[in-house]
Amino acid sequence: VLVCSGGGCVSAGCHAVKNALLQAIEDNHLEDKVLVSETGCIGTCNLGPVMVVMPEEVFYTKLTPADIPAIVESHFAGGAVKEDNTYYDTALKKRVTHLKDIEYFKNQIKIALRNCGNIDYGSIEEYIASDGYKAAAKALNSMTPAQVVDEVTKSGLRGRGGAGFPTGVKWNAGLQAVSDEKYIVCNADEGDPGAFMDRSLIEGDPHTVIEGILIGAYAIGAERGFAYIRAEYPLAIERFNAALEQARDFGLLGEDILGSGFDFDIEVRIGAGAFVCGEETALMASIEGERGEPKQKPPFPFQKGLFQKPTIINNVETFANIAPIILKGSGWYASFGTEKSKGTKVFALAGDINNTGLVEVPIGMKLSDIVYKIGGGLPGGKEFKAAQIGGPSGGCITKENLDTPVDYDSLMKLGAIMGSGGLIVMDEDKCMVDVAKFFMEFVQDESCGKCTPCRLGTKRMLAILQKITDGEGTMEDIDELETLARDVTSSALCGLGQTAPNPILSTLRNFRNEYEMHIADKR
Ligand code: SF4
Repeated sequence: VLVCSGGGCVSAGCHAVKNALLQAIEDNHLEDKVLVSETGCIGTCNLGPVMVVMPEEVFYTKLTPADIPAIVESHFAGGAVKEDNTYYDTALKKRVTHLKDIEYFKNQIKIALRNCGNIDYGSIEEYIASDGYKAAAKALNSMTPAQVVDEVTKSGLRGRGGAGFPTGVKWNAGLQAVSDEKYIVCNADEGDPGAFMDRSLIEGDPHTVIEGILIGAYAIGAERGFAYIRAEYPLAIERFNAALEQARDFGLLGEDILGSGFDFDIEVRIGAGAFVCGEETALMASIEGERGEPKQKPPFPFQKGLFQKPTIINNVETFANIAPIILKGSGWYASFGTEKSKGTKVFALAGDINNTGLVEVPIGMKLSDIVYKIGGGLPGGKEFKAAQIGGPSGGCITKENLDTPVDYDSLMKLGAIMGSGGLIVMDEDKCMVDVAKFFMEFVQDESCGKCTPCRLGTKRMLAILQKITDGEGTMEDIDELETLARDVTSSALCGLGQTAPNPILSTLRNFRNEYEMHIADKR
């Protein structure tokens, strides 16, 4: 029995359900027959606590401890009646569906999330039994660093943290850099409102992230790595640290890893809650113990990064794709996705959508398929108005563009970005000026204040938005807002400031009438 212990199910009370399950198993003398495993997030965050009974993959949702004795009696001790691909639970008097028959799962392809919901996140043995660390063994014992870089380059993997920079190109720069010391960093400072992909990956499958970092370190020649995890993710930090200990015990970190002669280890650094520390130069400053503020580039991190040494930084999801690429080959990975955007992408579905949760889809899937086939549409049968993709740096996709393939280039053409994977759906009742104001409040609060355009520009843009939504705006305010947004985009120092106006520009482009209505109606 796989009991989901992702962050959502933990909040919903999965541990009480698990304890009730263990008790009922004992009461029915089934200890030798039923094994209970805690897994990472299975993805259905709105249905928790959930559990899956293997091998038939029978899916129980919204469980309470009170449901458990009846389930154990009927399903495990006999009595559940199999009908039409579902189980009719005689004790609960309701149908329980098979996982494989549910639309939400049918339309996904899980590569980065392959183990989330399937194995015990706390067991290195289960990870190894699922081909874990096989890719690391292959890379370290039978491939040169250049061959690893070449394989990642050919896979077409692009950085999943937001910008979509080709991972192989970045790693090659790390490999070519000449230095006595190099570093590799895993960026787990996920801060976009509504985003929880990286958290769920670390909580649900920490070893896949460690294996990806290890292979990356070997490829570029780094002997020391850091995982920068935000302090707001205590469960992820706890599980990642436990996995690091296990990897050391198994000789997968430390000296002479897998007899290859390669030495490498990873340290966890905990961020202190500043969104800007997701920006790589600020992140490195924070690791060094400095104030987490961005710096001018160049020099780029691969030239002068942590402690002035060449450093390669990738995000959690990027690292989670590495082991399957090395194990199954770049051709296999490149068979998913589109011509220019290969592989799959994890999205955190949130907002006005029936199936909120974590999904992984081939890049290029239509937004309408993500919203309706996987997301199950909008609650109350309401109409889709827009989806914000890419968090506060992104933009909105409107109803007219619902059939847009979700890939890096198609989104860019519409003024949005793939970003790290936050996808917030909005129904017909949402005010898009309020949406722009929400994101501006966020970035204004998170601006580090180092450069004037962002420090003052975000404040001024927020003040104008407030004036408009208070019903005191004028048409000139809209013009000033637009001019200011363009000026901040072109003059801010780092990515946070440069992209901060995107929600304003995007809503002005698509929903200018809503700004005007606020002014005309004085509301
Ligand atoms: Fe700081 Fe904003 Fe300037 Fe970036 S753009 S350095 S967050 S003030």
